[in-house]
Amino acid sequence: MRVWIDQDLCTGDGLCVDHCHDVFTLLEDGIAYVVEDGEAQNDPGGSGSLAAVAPKHVESVIKAAEVCPGECIFIEIDAPVDADIDYDVDVRMAGRIDVRDDEAAA
Ligand code: SF4
Repeated sequence: MRVWIDQDLCTGDGLCVDHCHDVFTLLEDGIAYVVEDGEAQNDPGGSGSLAAVAPKHVESVIKAAEVCPGECIFIEIDAPVDADIDYDVDVRMAGRIDVRDDEAAA
């Protein structure tokens, strides 16, 4: 599973950091960014700043996306790899989860 933030929509309230400070961080500009291997992915603007999510953080990242007031946390699920992830979320969140299945498409 991977995650990214659309910084243009972020309100900077920090709820995501409260839910999972290993994956989300607020930088000096007051906006949230995703973190991978301890490094903020601070090249905002789209899926180029994706961060891989460790299995132990999957649940809290999905929860953060559900409560994000800016509705700006986006999740990518790799269907074969992430088959055991329960991403059955409310309809408000559904548009921000992209399920990919490259094996099935091949
Ligand atoms: S919860 Fe959403 S709006 Fe709030 S700081 Fe995190 S990404 Fe930004």
